Amino acid sequence: MSQPIRFTLPQQDIPTHWYNLLPDFPEPMPPPLHPGTKEPIPAEALLAIFPENLVQQEMSQQGLIEIPEEVRDIYALWRPTPLLRAVRFEKALQTPAHIYYKYEGASPAGSHKPNTAVAQAYFNKVAGTKRLATETGAGQWGSSLALACRLFGLECNVYMVKVSYQQKPYRRMLMHTWGATVHASPSDQTEYGRKLLAEDPHCPGSLGIAISEAIEDTVTHPDTKYSLGSVLNHVCLHQSVIGQESIKQMELAGEEPDTIIGCCGGGSNFAGLAFPFMEKKIKERKNYRIVGVEPFACPTLTQGELRYDFGDTAEMTPLLMMYTLGHKFMPPSIHAGGLRYHGISPMVSHALKLGLMEAESHHQTKVFEAGTLFARSEGIVPAPESAHAIASVVDEAVKAREAGEKRVILFNLSGHGLLDLSAYETYLSGKMQDA
Ligand SMILES: *Cc1c(COP(=O)(O)O)cnc(C)c1O
Repeated sequence: MSQPIRFTLPQQDIPTHWYNLLPDFPEPMPPPLHPGTKEPIPAEALLAIFPENLVQQEMSQQGLIEIPEEVRDIYALWRPTPLLRAVRFEKALQTPAHIYYKYEGASPAGSHKPNTAVAQAYFNKVAGTKRLATETGAGQWGSSLALACRLFGLECNVYMVKVSYQQKPYRRMLMHTWGATVHASPSDQTEYGRKLLAEDPHCPGSLGIAISEAIEDTVTHPDTKYSLGSVLNHVCLHQSVIGQESIKQMELAGEEPDTIIGCCGGGSNFAGLAFPFMEKKIKERKNYRIVGVEPFACPTLTQGELRYDFGDTAEMTPLLMMYTLGHKFMPPSIHAGGLRYHGISPMVSHALKLGLMEAESHHQTKVFEAGTLFARSEGIVPAPESAHAIASVVDEAVKAREAGEKRVILFNLSGHGLLDLSAYETYLSGKMQDA
């Protein structure tokens, strides 16, 4: 064996606490507002849709929050996830840079999303919730929550964006396999869905519409709560296991990253990897370059405005201070369905505003070129979302080559693309277009 490339941790190294960046921000983050009064939303207002324990986490100023034993036991099915050095990818890029990736595709659902789905299902279960309602775009979140609900004995009711429901059957089947109920959104299950269908029976749906339907479902059914797979503080919190494990694994590898990269849809996998490194940036004055990467077709961080906006199309959510393209924005239908959201996590927005991170965007053909090169050198086919991070890694690796610099780059491979092969097929046949 020439050199170690795979850095794994034993089961007992699953983190015991989630890391909360909120109290460590050099400036406090603007709170969510009630859309009517424009005053900070009281915790009680959130109890209509979330259980109290998760509302507490959402607003918590505690730096470390203990991970319950029951959640760690389920994490142990796939965590700690491996961290690998992509030596063949480095060679393909002829770069002196060392490239490492954290592989979150190792979960049963194939992405990082079960890290929070399992936690949310657990806290709902102990709070007495019997049924969860949620939305999903391409199905990554819906399938992760379906799995988590199954493991804790909750019913799972998913509103899936209609175009994806029709065009991406495999994650719908995965949700059914794990026992969830799935509706194409807009659906006839809600007032809002019926109104949209009356206006346009062929409405293709959007994430914003599906969120509105899931919230309406929640407030009109007993023992039902709503669950969101990204954006919110408690979701970023649960994902912090990614970065905490990565810090230990980079120590095992005997290197420290200078650049940390993740793709951004709602911001949760990026936050999961980056926030534990941001803690060091803030407290130990580390000089990490931390980069969030998004599609050029949905450029929330790079071209959006930082202001209060709704999280959904029907204006049912609190107002969140975030980079946004406007809650009526309909992103073009790119292949990275998980990155088609008009807003982004307020915590990630605040980190960008404070200069703790940077943001980049790429066209999808460049993204798939990078994803294909990665698959051909490392084997793993990256999710189209994750391939956005890889496109930025390629740029960094080329810069390192041109400057003759030894760099250490770490990125999050947030999921595998084995259920997204039709997107690769479109790319490989030369039919993919840029917005
Ligand atoms: C959902 C998803 C994303 C985007 O969501 P974030 O909250 O921004 O992480 C990225 N990668 C994969 C594989 C996903 O499933």
